[in-house]
Amino acid sequence: MTDTAELRKDLRELIDRICADYPDAYWREVDEARRYPEEFVDALTGTGCLGALVPEEYGGLGLGLGDASVLLEGINANGGNAGPVHAQLYTMGSVLRHGSEEQKRRYLPGIASGQLRLQAFGVTEPTAGTDTTSIRTTARRTDDGYVVNGQKVFISRVQHSDLMLLLARTTPREEAARKSEGLSLFLLDLREVEGVELRPLRTMVNHETNEVFLSDVHIPADALIGEEGKASATSSTG
Ligand SMILES: Cc1cc2nc3c(=O)[nH]c(=O)nc-3n(C[C@H](O)[C@H](O)[C@H](O)COP(=O)(O)OP(=O)(O)OC[C@H]3O[C@@H](n4cnc5c(N)ncnc54)[C@H](O)[C@@H]3O)c2cc1C
Repeated sequence: MTDTAELRKDLRELIDRICADYPDAYWREVDEARRYPEEFVDALTGTGCLGALVPEEYGGLGLGLGDASVLLEGINANGGNAGPVHAQLYTMGSVLRHGSEEQKRRYLPGIASGQLRLQAFGVTEPTAGTDTTSIRTTARRTDDGYVVNGQKVFISRVQHSDLMLLLARTTPREEAARKSEGLSLFLLDLREVEGVELRPLRTMVNHETNEVFLSDVHIPADALIGEEGKASATSSTG
C-alpha cells in the first residue's frame, strides 16, 4: 500500500470510530431540535483532524485536499452531516495563501487546534448570489481601519464561529475599472466587533444559516486579508 493509501485508510478508520458514537438517532434528534451538533464537533476537533489542511509549521497536520475530502466523505458515509464542520477545514485557506505572516501566526495555530473557530464566510447577499461582483456591502476606509455596512444572506455556522471572512466592496462597482475589482476580503473577530445582527433562517436541513446585518461595524486595518480591492484573486471559499 502506498503512503497516501495507508494514510487515507487511517483517516477513514478514525472517522468510523468517532462516528460510531453518533448514530442516526443522534442526527435525527439534532435536526429535529435544530441545534448545532456540538458534541460531535467537539469530538472531531479533539482528534486534530479539522486542522488537516493547516501546514505543520502552524500546528496543523499539513495534509492535502484529497485527504481532507476523505474525512468529509467518511462523516457523510457514516450517516452524519459534515456541513457543521467542513468550513473549519478550508475557510482558513484565504489567510494561509494571502494573509501576512503576522496574521498567519495569530490565527492558524488556534484554527488548527480548534481553539479558534473560523467556519463562517459572508459572501452571498440578497441581490448577489452567483454574481458575486454585484455585492453591495461596503467597507469604508477610516483613519484606523474600516466601517462596514450591508447585508448578507445564507451565512452558515456564524453563531458557532469566532471569526468570519467577509467580502465587501471598498470601491463601488460603477467606479471600479473592472467589476471584479474593488472587492476586499476581511477577517472579522465576531467576539469583538459590534453592529452585527443575526437572524436565523429556517431551511429544510439544519444548516444553522442566517441573515447577517452589518451596521457601522468598525474593524481594524489589519483585518484586511491580502490587497485592498483585489479580493477576486484572494478568496478561497465557495
Ligand atoms: C443552506 C445554504 C447555506 C449557504 N451558506 C452560505 C455561506 O455560509 N456563506 C455564503 O456566502 N453563502 C452561502 N450560501 C449561498 C450560496 O452560496 C448561494 O445560494 C449561491 O451563491 C447561489 O446564489 P443564489 O441562491 O442567489 O442563486 P442565484 O444566483 O439567483 O442563482 C439561481 C439559479 O440561476 C443560475 N444562474 C445564475 N446566474 C446564471 C447565469 N449567468 N447563467 C446561467 N445560470 C445562472 C444558478 O446556477 C442557479 O441555478 C448558502 C446557501 C444555502 C442554500
